Amino acid sequence: MSGSGRSSGDIDAEVLVIGSGAGGAPTAALLAEAGFDVLVVEEGPWIPQGALRPFSLQQMERQYRSGGVTVALGRPSIAYTEGRCAGGGSEINSGLYWRPPGTLLERWRDQYGLASLDPDGIDKVLDEVERDLSVQLLPGAASGPSEMLRRGAAALGWRHDEVPRWMTYSDQEPAGRRQSMTETYLPRARQAGARIVPECRAERIEIRNGRARYVAVVGADGTRRRIGFRHLIVCAGAIQTPALLLRSGLRHNIGRTLAIHPTVKLAARFDSPLNVPDDVPVHQVKEFAPQLSFGGSASHPGLVALSLADSWDTFGDRIVDWQRMSVYYAAITSEGHGRVLAIPGFTDPLVTYRLTRRDEAMLGRGLARLSLLMLEAGADEVYPSFRSAPVVRTRADVAEQQRRFSTTRATVMTVHLCSTVPLGGARDQRRGADEWGAIPGVSNVAVNDASLLPDAPGVNPQATVMALAIRNVRHFIESDRFLDGSS
Ligand SMILES: Cc1cc2nc3c(=O)[nH]c(=O)nc-3n(C[C@H](O)[C@H](O)[C@H](O)COP(=O)(O)OP(=O)(O)OC[C@H]3O[C@@H](n4cnc5c(N)ncnc54)[C@H](O)[C@@H]3O)c2cc1C
Repeated sequence: MSGSGRSSGDIDAEVLVIGSGAGGAPTAALLAEAGFDVLVVEEGPWIPQGALRPFSLQQMERQYRSGGVTVALGRPSIAYTEGRCAGGGSEINSGLYWRPPGTLLERWRDQYGLASLDPDGIDKVLDEVERDLSVQLLPGAASGPSEMLRRGAAALGWRHDEVPRWMTYSDQEPAGRRQSMTETYLPRARQAGARIVPECRAERIEIRNGRARYVAVVGADGTRRRIGFRHLIVCAGAIQTPALLLRSGLRHNIGRTLAIHPTVKLAARFDSPLNVPDDVPVHQVKEFAPQLSFGGSASHPGLVALSLADSWDTFGDRIVDWQRMSVYYAAITSEGHGRVLAIPGFTDPLVTYRLTRRDEAMLGRGLARLSLLMLEAGADEVYPSFRSAPVVRTRADVAEQQRRFSTTRATVMTVHLCSTVPLGGARDQRRGADEWGAIPGVSNVAVNDASLLPDAPGVNPQATVMALAIRNVRHFIESDRFLDGSS
C-alpha cells in the first residue's frame, strides 16, 4: 500500500472503484480511510440531495438510467429501474431499511458454502451502518397512505411494521433528508483523500496474463482515456457490473443468475384526500413474508395515472380523484431467474427474466390479497394494474379479479436486482465470485455490490448490500496481500 498521493508510472490509482452506489461508496470510504489511494469513476452526475423533487419525472430523467425505462425481456417482460448518478440507487430509493434476517444469512452460509459468512459479524457491521445513515423511525405520525396499510393489516390480523429509514428530520426538513451516499460515505471518502469523478463511464477492462491492467473510460463530452491501477473493485450494480465483466471477457458464471423481487400494483381510492406526491408509505405488511410482502409506492399524479393505464377504458375517468388515491404493491420472492448478456456493438446489455408458474400464481394471489387489504383499510374502490381488471368494491370482486388475472396482462416491475455475480465457496458450482467478492481467474479484480448477493433476500436489499460490501473491503484491507499480493 502506498498510503497517500498518486502512484507513479502508468498507475493512476492504487485502487480504482467503478460505481459510487450502496456498494461502491462504503468501499471507497473505508479504503481511503485506511490510507489507500482511491479513484472512483461514476457514470452519472453528482446531484445533491434536495436538488430535485423526490419521485418526480424530473428526478427520473436526471438520476435514473434511461429515464427509468428499462426492461427485462420475458413473458411477461419486467420493467426495472436503476439509479444512474453519484450515490446510485441510494439517492432515489425509498430509504426503507431492513436488516437481512439471521435465518437468511445462515441459509446462504450453508447452501453456498460461505464458511466466512458470520451472522454476528454482519450484525455488528449493521450497527455501524445504522449509526452512519441515521436509520430511524418517523418522529411523528405516518402519512395517510401508510396509515391505510396499517389499518387494513390490523383489521385482518396480519403482521405489519413501520419500517425505519435512513433519514434525518429537522424543522427545516420535517419530511426528512435522505441519508444517501452523497450525504454520508462519499463525503467521507473525499475527506480521506479519495478522488471521485462523476460522468465518467467505464467501458471495458483490459486484461493481460490474468491481470487487469487498464479500464477504458469515456467522459460526458465523449473524451476517452485509459486508467491504470493496481486493484480494481467493480461496484456498478447488479446489471452493469456483469455487463462490464462480460464486455471485458470475464464470463465464468457471470450474469447467469439474476434474482429480483417482482411486484404487481394497484391504486386504491379512499373517501377523503390522502395522496402524498413526493414520499412513500413507511408501513409494510409481512404476514406472508419472505415469500410475499405488501407496501406502498410513489404516488404522484403521473404515477397514479400509470397504475390506472392498463385498464384505462374502465379506470381512466377516476384519475380526477387522484388526491383520494394512493398506489400499493405486492412483491414476491421469485423462484425464477434472469440473465444479463453483453451484446457486441451495443452500450446497454440485454436483460431477460423468466418467472416460474409458482411465481405467476403467487403474483395473482398477492394482488388479490392486496385488494382485500385495501378494502379492509376502507377503500371504496380498488383498481388492479392489469388489462381487463375489474373495479374492486367487494370481496366477490376480489374473487373475480383473481379469476381474470394473468401476468402477461399485468405490469410487472422491480426495483430490487441482485445475484448476477454470486458469492460462493470453492465448491459452489454457480459462484461468480469467491467468498469475499474476488473474481476467480483474474488476479486483481473484485466485485462489491448487489451482484454478490447469493440470491434474493426477501427484504429491501440495500442494508444487505452495504453490510457485505463493508465486510469484504475490511477483509481486503486486513489481508496483507490485498487482492493479489501487489502492495
Ligand atoms: C426506485 C428504487 C427504490 C428502492 N427502494 C429501496 C428501499 O427502500 N430500500 C432498500 O433497501 N433498497 C431499495 N432499493 C434498492 C437499492 O437502492 C439497491 O439495492 C442498491 O442501491 C444497490 O447498490 P449497488 O451498489 O449494487 O448499485 P447502485 O446503488 O445502483 O450503484 C451502482 C452505481 O454504478 C454506476 N455505474 C453503473 N455502470 C457504470 C459504469 N460502466 N461506469 C461507471 N459507473 C457505473 C451507476 O451509475 C450507479 O451509481 C431501491 C432501488 C430503486 C431503484
